[in-house]
Amino acid sequence: MNPVLSLDIGGTKLSAAVLSRSGDLLSKERAPTLAQEGPRCVIARLLDLAARVTRSAGVPVDAAGVSVGGPLDSVAGIVHQPPNLPGWDHVSLRALLSEGLGIPADRIAMENDANAGALAEHRFGAARGRSHLVFLTMSTGIGGGMILDGRLYRGAGLSAGEVGHQMIVPDGPVCGCGKRGCLEAVASGAGIASRLRERFDEMPARIKNACGSPDQLTARHLIDAARDGDPFAVMFLEETAALLARGIANLVFILNPEMLVLGTLAWHARDLLLVPLRAELRRLCWPVLTQSLEVVATQLGPRLEELSGLCAFLEAERLKGMPVDPPGCPSGSGSP
Ligand SMILES: [Zn+2]
Repeated sequence: MNPVLSLDIGGTKLSAAVLSRSGDLLSKERAPTLAQEGPRCVIARLLDLAARVTRSAGVPVDAAGVSVGGPLDSVAGIVHQPPNLPGWDHVSLRALLSEGLGIPADRIAMENDANAGALAEHRFGAARGRSHLVFLTMSTGIGGGMILDGRLYRGAGLSAGEVGHQMIVPDGPVCGCGKRGCLEAVASGAGIASRLRERFDEMPARIKNACGSPDQLTARHLIDAARDGDPFAVMFLEETAALLARGIANLVFILNPEMLVLGTLAWHARDLLLVPLRAELRRLCWPVLTQSLEVVATQLGPRLEELSGLCAFLEAERLKGMPVDPPGCPSGSGSP
């Protein structure tokens, strides 16, 4: 079977890769999303990346899987106003990609990034063999993907799992979705950066020097400083873990998952985030729920984005009743 083109449209980065169906990476490139330029420019840049990786893979590619921030209609192939992609108002992404890639629309599968990430963790990552898991993207935003009883749960309107938009802080900061106090507004990469900026004056010189100015500050500056043992950064990550735990506790009470897999930020921060998060969850939730719960960072790290697109395609094939290769361990490397 021909390899699959995997596309990932994040709030900060785009990636395109060509992979075998068992996850072996043949070629990959990334570029900044520059989301403020709007969908036309972002899609043009993505098509350019796709052309380059397809050329460099040197093999025919006649199918694609796309991972993109929700909400979206994965059946119709339409992206509906994701908070991290300004100007994407009901964009017919599948049709535009089909035209630009020369791949028939029915060979292009789309899934929101959190659902695609959950599928990737279930098939290739930390949650192999698990039946009840929640995956949180933990990147620019916070999306949730839920696999319940072994199957992806999409909900009545294909929009289940928008866990980043639970109200966590009453009258808190405005979220990209327009509501106030969402989990995403305080604990995502963008939310952490926004909280940090409010405390720029009290930050240690090492973080100020690393970022240069408040508008250049990111969650990665904080995590790097915490890794070096900076007390302010360690404390700020603990505060972030406590906010995150409020949202995750709701999921634990409602879904009783056996595993919670956290994406990009947790992959970078590891125990600096996970240890206080586990402790706070034990404090907030009943023991009967936390005893059987594992809270881990993604194992796929740099490979999550390309495996997400691939798994979006494989899931669509499964739903069509087409043969899909058994789960396996992919090879490859990179940096998220
Ligand atoms: Zn929100």
